[in-house]
Amino acid sequence: MNVIRNHNLIDDNTLAVNCVCHQYATINSLSDLEALPKKIKITEMLVMGAGSNFLFTQDLPRFVAHIKPRKYITQVDNLVVAWAGTVWHDLVMWATERGLGGIENLALIPGLVGAAPFQNIGAYGVEIKDVLVWVEVYNWQTGHYHRLSNQECLFSYRHSIFKYHEQPWIISRVALDLRKDREININYKPLADYFSQSNKPPTYANIAEAVTAIRQSKLPDPRILSNAGSFFKNPIISDQQIRRIQRRYKDLPLYPTDKENEFKTSAAWLLEQCGFKGYREGDAGFYDKHALVLVNYGRASGKELLKLAVQAKKTVKNKFGVMLDEEVRVM
Ligand SMILES: Cc1cc2nc3c(=O)[nH]c(=O)nc-3n(C[C@H](O)[C@H](O)[C@H](O)COP(=O)(O)OP(=O)(O)OC[C@H]3O[C@@H](n4cnc5c(N)ncnc54)[C@H](O)[C@@H]3O)c2cc1C
Repeated sequence: MNVIRNHNLIDDNTLAVNCVCHQYATINSLSDLEALPKKIKITEMLVMGAGSNFLFTQDLPRFVAHIKPRKYITQVDNLVVAWAGTVWHDLVMWATERGLGGIENLALIPGLVGAAPFQNIGAYGVEIKDVLVWVEVYNWQTGHYHRLSNQECLFSYRHSIFKYHEQPWIISRVALDLRKDREININYKPLADYFSQSNKPPTYANIAEAVTAIRQSKLPDPRILSNAGSFFKNPIISDQQIRRIQRRYKDLPLYPTDKENEFKTSAAWLLEQCGFKGYREGDAGFYDKHALVLVNYGRASGKELLKLAVQAKKTVKNKFGVMLDEEVRVM
């Protein structure tokens, strides 16, 4: 294993901010995983995939284990098993080309398979938890592999055990139950509209194509405009908050959650009402087509981006009494 000292992660994070880490090594295979130094403490190791869900605000006195893209997908006991370094969208395409359903709504989410369970990626009414059977982790301190079942992963909205408890774990493989007879889900309005105006049937492949087209029309491509997708999660709000906000804003968007009588609202809508859609301070700004996306228009530093995010959070709190939580991992 080739360990590099003082490596700058600017090309390794989609917000394109400068961040020098103390030590850095690339991981291309299981044998690279197994060669990781065993004595590193949990707080000293950071695992990275494609870096599309980070905001670095300072240099990192850490060892960064950077999983590199490499496609490896197999079918074992009717499950689809993918190596952590597989590009997520390649897995979606692999499945739809074979007529396997379950993850077509998650097309074009940037990043690698290994990161997908970390925040239970989700879009268009589907989350990875809906089809995930097990996650294999490598414990770099003991040198052992271990499998966690779906229940053991403690999934919830953009959350999992991997976020709750820092462990000396690197997700190495993920197994999904993708099937030819999975029920499709085109309930989400933009998808329903797409198929009501199209003469194509909603097959898994056509849904993935539709999701890709919708996402491309709404979200900036990080290769062209640096960003990390939705910066905040959609907040869950109480009945009392709903009633108070609806006194002035009848059009408050509300979405049901898994729990009865619990609703999420749109963080993008809250930010837009506060004037943040398209708002810019220097090179840090919120995207002009989607208020939830914090973008680096050029050379903004992590601190400048964070300052704007904090300002947005405070404004939303003052105007609506709702606290936004970061979806992106701020370090
Ligand atoms: C334009 C854009 C749109 C997006 N849209 C969505 C969306 O619709 N839905 C959604 O859920 N997310 C979305 N995201 C966020 C992002 O794509 C996901 O969080 C993705 O899973 C991150 O993958 P990554 O490989 O880039 O992970 P990274 O950003 O490198 O890492 C993310 C987290 O996972 C951990 N991690 C990564 N790999 C491993 C591993 N092998 N083992 C253990 N921990 C690991 C990291 O430590 C970090 O905490 C979007 C991002 C962008 C830029």
